[in-house]
Amino acid sequence: MSSLAGKNRKTRNARPSLSTGITGLPGVGPGREKLLGNLGIRAVADLLLYPPRRYIDRKAIVSICDLAGGGTQTIAGDVISVEVRHLGRKSLAVARVCDGTGTVKCVWFNQPYLKNSLKRGGTYILSGPVRVDRFGTALVHPEYEAEGGKLLSTGRVVPVYRLTPGLGQRTMRRLVDTALTRYAGSLGDPLPPRIGAALRLLPLDEALGALHFPEDIDHAERARRRLAFDEMLLFQTLFARARAEAHNASAGTSDGGRGTGRSCLLEALPFRLTSSQQKALTQVLDDIDEASPMRRLIQGDVGCGKTVVAGLGAGYVCGGGGQVALMCPTELLAEQHCRTMTELLGGLGHSVALLTAGLPAAEQARVVEGLAAGDIDAVVGTHSLFSDRVDFRSLGLVIVDEEQRFGVLQRARLIAKSPGADFLAVSATPIPRTLALTAYGDLDISVIDEMPPGRGSHVTTLVPEEEADAVLMDLAGRIKAGEQAFYICPVLDEGSLGLTGVRTAGRRLDRLLGARGLVGLLTGRTPREERQATLAAFEAGDIACIVATSVLEVGVDVPGATLLVVEQADRFGLSQLHQMRGRVQRSSSDSRSYFIVPDGASERALKRLEVLGKNYDGFDIAEHDLMLRGPGDIVGRRQHGIPDLRFTSLPADLDLLEAARDEASRSVMSGDSVYEEWLEVLSRAAGGERGMIH
Ligand code: ADP
Ligand code: MG
Repeated sequence: MSSLAGKNRKTRNARPSLSTGITGLPGVGPGREKLLGNLGIRAVADLLLYPPRRYIDRKAIVSICDLAGGGTQTIAGDVISVEVRHLGRKSLAVARVCDGTGTVKCVWFNQPYLKNSLKRGGTYILSGPVRVDRFGTALVHPEYEAEGGKLLSTGRVVPVYRLTPGLGQRTMRRLVDTALTRYAGSLGDPLPPRIGAALRLLPLDEALGALHFPEDIDHAERARRRLAFDEMLLFQTLFARARAEAHNASAGTSDGGRGTGRSCLLEALPFRLTSSQQKALTQVLDDIDEASPMRRLIQGDVGCGKTVVAGLGAGYVCGGGGQVALMCPTELLAEQHCRTMTELLGGLGHSVALLTAGLPAAEQARVVEGLAAGDIDAVVGTHSLFSDRVDFRSLGLVIVDEEQRFGVLQRARLIAKSPGADFLAVSATPIPRTLALTAYGDLDISVIDEMPPGRGSHVTTLVPEEEADAVLMDLAGRIKAGEQAFYICPVLDEGSLGLTGVRTAGRRLDRLLGARGLVGLLTGRTPREERQATLAAFEAGDIACIVATSVLEVGVDVPGATLLVVEQADRFGLSQLHQMRGRVQRSSSDSRSYFIVPDGASERALKRLEVLGKNYDGFDIAEHDLMLRGPGDIVGRRQHGIPDLRFTSLPADLDLLEAARDEASRSVMSGDSVYEEWLEVLSRAAGGERGMIH
């Protein structure tokens, strides 16, 4: 037998797998692999699950005699001539197309190769904007496809993707089509027909097809809903698994509390807890005392004192001989929490260390060693805390601060790494109760809904761009009188987008204040030493104003700051802005925020921002934000703390949630594996890791 025959047989027998690398797809070489990689598409599944940004309906075919100027229209006809005219370095291709009712010109700029690809005498479907002027009627830059061939870009509902330079819509559609043909049916549909029928969900292969090439917009919506169900099934399966594992896990490594009594903990504090904090703390400590590991979330507005409660939980666990890991979304926040924790836990006799990628290697090695040996009781860091090189001697409690930054998949991964340890998440994004089950179905929730006493009042003002100068003058005046300010810009440097950059704003403020050295800059890219020096100087009052990108949104705690200015406030999410203004409401002095609204801001953006002017309650703001979105809008990634939902549209899909939850717990309890392969694929495409579903 020839080796070729053997090879053939092998390919025939191998079942196509959705996990196949994207280069396994015909038409994808190293160049396109890189471009697709920019979009996060690495495997065939990532491509199939890459949702179009929108669709264009090019189904209606218009008779040429009926073409009217204005929007995009689609015609079908024969090409009777193709000409390319060269105008210096530019070129103009003109084709005449006739459909029996009339003839129309189609024009393309700088596409001389059309002369070869558009065949005279061939029949085509063409779709493009119609221009009517004194030269007559023309289709401008229409997309075209030969009739009789597969229609992917014309004559149907056409997907439009978010792309990257070098990758065109037509290419993308072709690649998706190839992937669908070869792979969409390869998995079968793990969902039992009775569930699909009850919820009127499309079969999986049809849903994957209709996500990209729907028959009509309603079909696309049904595809989205089917995939939304599977997405919720994925989360609920992770949650059910976590519950089952928590149930099986023997008692947490530490039961805490034995070394340090509860009252002893509170003596370490310079203030009294609010009753809301007290209640949350009791819930946390009770959970820690329980044999099964804690799975809890503390929710509450910025500044209500969540971190303090988490810190006391840490003290309790350390007192019982367990180690604590506190994970933060940014190095900046990790450094700050390390100081707070050192104060709090140090007072109780425990040692605290910082572990971030920005530290010198020797220092990192020292901390890693100390954690393994048990010499370090608590460690504060970024996600690198959970890299494989870090081993704990007796990890008792994992705290995740600003959890809304991490997402469900990352949380599941974290918990899976130390299933026996207690887990406490802290989030300042007050996720509306209606949504909590979707994102936090695995956690018990404590809410802190009260601010520590003695805070000053706060006023938020929306400022039209043309009045921004007056605000700056006011700001300068207040700074000269001794107040301190945060000044937030959307980007570090102005690019082509017309956004104000940190550097420019910094120079302007320098001029305005008439003294150098009063302004410090801070961005996600500021080196560690410089960042620390800037914050320390601000805290000491040597710097009066920090100009920053949104890094300040999370956690930075400088009680003295009372002024906030946000440039181009429409660029930020409502909850994000609410978090930012929380930064200036930490002192007993009155504080104010100015959100500058650019001239070009949309009606809708303005409406959203107005919510902030009137409302100071984070939960209300989140609910408003949700209501102001259209029903088809997918909840923004950062708005509600559910960063990894890509198909689910909330609250519209909440009706699917219960079914997804029931099915997930049935499947986990019965230990069946019908969903295993598909959920693994889904979780990987959503940015998860291999092996999350096992
Ligand atoms: P959050 O994490 O919820 O934003 P923090 O725990 O960082 O809030 O607390 C915000 C600030 O308020 C900190 O400076 C903290 O020391 C202080 N604080 C917290 N709880 C109280 C309280 N009960 N009384 C007075 N100050 C408090
Ligand atoms: Mg906090």
